[in-house]
Amino acid sequence: MSTALKPELNVCTRCVMDTSIPGITFDEKGVCNYCEIHDRLEKHFPQNEVGEKYCRDWVTRIKKDGQKNEYDCVVGVSGGTDSCYLLYLAKEWGLRPLAVNLDNGWNSQIAVSNIKKCTRALGIDLRTYVINWEEIRDILVSFLKASIPWADAPTDTAITSALYKIAAEENIRYVLIGADFRTEGKQPSEWTYCDGRLVKSVHKRFGKLPMKTFPNLTIMNLLYYGFIKGIKNIRPLYYLTYNKQEARKFLEDQYGWEYYGGHHYESIFTSFVLTVLLPEKFHADKRKVTYSAQIRSGFRDRQKALEDLQKPPLSAKEREEAIKYVTKKLGLSAEEFESIYNAQPKTPFDYPSYYPLIKHFGPIVRLFLKLVFPWTPTTFHEREARSDNNNE
Ligand SMILES: [Zn+2]
Repeated sequence: MSTALKPELNVCTRCVMDTSIPGITFDEKGVCNYCEIHDRLEKHFPQNEVGEKYCRDWVTRIKKDGQKNEYDCVVGVSGGTDSCYLLYLAKEWGLRPLAVNLDNGWNSQIAVSNIKKCTRALGIDLRTYVINWEEIRDILVSFLKASIPWADAPTDTAITSALYKIAAEENIRYVLIGADFRTEGKQPSEWTYCDGRLVKSVHKRFGKLPMKTFPNLTIMNLLYYGFIKGIKNIRPLYYLTYNKQEARKFLEDQYGWEYYGGHHYESIFTSFVLTVLLPEKFHADKRKVTYSAQIRSGFRDRQKALEDLQKPPLSAKEREEAIKYVTKKLGLSAEEFESIYNAQPKTPFDYPSYYPLIKHFGPIVRLFLKLVFPWTPTTFHEREARSDNNNE
């Protein structure tokens, strides 16, 4: 394959983010604004005695508020390192978690078996929220047809919503999520932004079936969960000295947990979007975001990352198999897939969403979201970093 036609990419001097990333700018030292977002997040979620105290205080509160319940918190589990390790931590802290997994029909065997192994060994009850397959199929196809880069966004929305839903039903006030920006990074919003209004508007325009049972997350839902049910979303790994490699090794040794390759390959559809659709259709290589986060956090060597990025995420055979599997399962003909693949790329901002609210009423929306998220969501940090640089 010739690289002669590839445009020259300007790469950040600190991480491996380059000019293929939407919204990227560089300072006089050649350091990108995503590094700045990372530093902001580091400050907002400190990994020191302040962060540890913050976590301890939450644990005390969770125990106190949930003492009359069978469970005092919900922990979302995907079968990956972060969520399985969080289950272990919750138990270590003396919490009584209910593990919740979303089944959208795409979970890999390894992910399902990891969840079973960990919950069994830790004596944690597991609830699986199964989405209606025809509905989620129709919604995912509508995102593909809408040419939105992160076509798996509806799953992310459904996961959050399912966790709140089960928490509300069980009168549980706390939802714990095992996300870790230090090893995942902040994805540009042009790739991954999603909310309940976006899911609704895209599905209405491109879907064929009515949305009846899909657990969407609208402002009204958030108001209900935050205001009426008093549910809070907590991300403990943001504040703890957490080493993913060590956590992985620990899970393997303790529970026979298995690593499933690259990040987020717990779902076959997620893997397809990451390794085929994003890099090929949108020239969006999410490895750059992940590797960059890990370089900034000292978990990955920059030079080695630059070399690894030269390799395609999949072999030709794996790529062909992934396309075949996904199109068959989604019920798409070869022509339909071709037309999705060749359609003009769009962003989530080409469709109605709540994003204009964040854009124009950021501080008010942030206050409102505090009901559910006691911390500031990364989209706000991104906006701040970008507006400081652009003087919007
Ligand atoms: Zn950078």
